[in-house]
Amino acid sequence: MADAITLLVFCLPIVTLCYSMFCLASPWGTCVRCRPAGKNRTCRACNGTGKRPRLGWQLYVYARRLYRDGDH
Ligand SMILES: [Zn+2]
Repeated sequence: MADAITLLVFCLPIVTLCYSMFCLASPWGTCVRCRPAGKNRTCRACNGTGKRPRLGWQLYVYARRLYRDGDH
């Protein structure tokens, strides 16, 4: 059991880092709501673009905004 926790603690930063790199490499993901039908102009989730920013990218933008607001 302790080994599993150690493994998890060791892997988590690596997984987080990989996900961050993945988000930076392609911040836009396919819209899940209208993906089966392709682009859907009435889709409110993506405003009809068929693409949505990834959660990691949204977090990055949010963190950057917080940092900028705190800087001034
Ligand atoms: Zn959509």
